[in-house]
Amino acid sequence: MLVVMKPAASAKDQSAVVARITAAGCEVNITEHEGRTLIGVVGEEVPPDAEQVSVMDGVEQVMSVSVPYSRASRDYHPDDTVIPLNGSSIGGNKILVIAGPCSVESRDQIVETAIAVKEAGASALRGGAFKPRTSPYSFQGHGRQGLEWMAEAREITGLPIVTEVMDVGLIEMVAEYADVLQIGARNMQNFALLHAAGESQHPILLKRGMSSTIEELLMAAEYVLSHGNTRVMLCERGIRTFETFTRNTFDANAIPVLKALTHLPVVADPSHAVGKWEYVTAIARSAVAAGADGLIVEVHPRPAEALSDGRQSLTPQHFVDMMEQVRRIAAAVDRTA
Ligand code: PEP
Ligand code: MN
Repeated sequence: MLVVMKPAASAKDQSAVVARITAAGCEVNITEHEGRTLIGVVGEEVPPDAEQVSVMDGVEQVMSVSVPYSRASRDYHPDDTVIPLNGSSIGGNKILVIAGPCSVESRDQIVETAIAVKEAGASALRGGAFKPRTSPYSFQGHGRQGLEWMAEAREITGLPIVTEVMDVGLIEMVAEYADVLQIGARNMQNFALLHAAGESQHPILLKRGMSSTIEELLMAAEYVLSHGNTRVMLCERGIRTFETFTRNTFDANAIPVLKALTHLPVVADPSHAVGKWEYVTAIARSAVAAGADGLIVEVHPRPAEALSDGRQSLTPQHFVDMMEQVRRIAAAVDRTA
């Protein structure tokens, strides 16, 4: 933190600022620059409140020189975090592909899809049992029954399960079945849920809110990390823009930016980003080229019968084609998929 004093600030103003900083347990480093006094705050374990300091007499502005997400930041943790997952992992050289339907619809649908995506090379199974739908009249998911069916699909295929939890009260139940708890875009700033997800110590897939900045995503991850739960993966799933032809706009920028700012694995969700199955493979390719550590892709054996997101679901054959293309892009960036 750096406090820039106004040129007209008095010695008394400056002493008051220094006193505030030292009272917080920090030290000061005072320099002069073009007629202004700059007060650097040293030892910022618990810095003084920047907003309070910014309204003290004689203060022009308070600048942040370090990031507010210390646990997520690469500054303090230069090595990539690698999260093991039932024999696979994410964050290492191999790109983790998570595939499956938007919603778990029946025992046969999830088992059939799990077998197909495993055969094509997926390393984890996705599927929602609790669905965040825009309309209360849309299919809301099969709840615990859906989790049971997913567990059966895991039993048969060995694929770990990624599934969404929407409510603090459901974490315990969902964690009983899930290998990874997904926090959806609509809940990225549900702070009670983030705290509880941290306390659960379960691996977390945190999706970027549809109107959230990269820094807000990192601060949401920081909530989970602050409980000592270090197994967090971040997911770029498209953001809202003025474009309406696609469901969202895939923010490819976010991938290299996140890789630079944080040590946490970065996953891309081309399905929700683009919203139309025929563009999903191209966006998956671009995500891998940009440096994503994982993909989460919607696959349905019969998209025309899907109870949610059929428009963006790949058939198993499309998914085979996607994997083939993704492997070629992965090889071009010295990775495997
Ligand atoms: C999903 O994964 O099916 C989903 C609802 O995703 P998001 O939270 O990104 O919209
Ligand atoms: Mn979906």
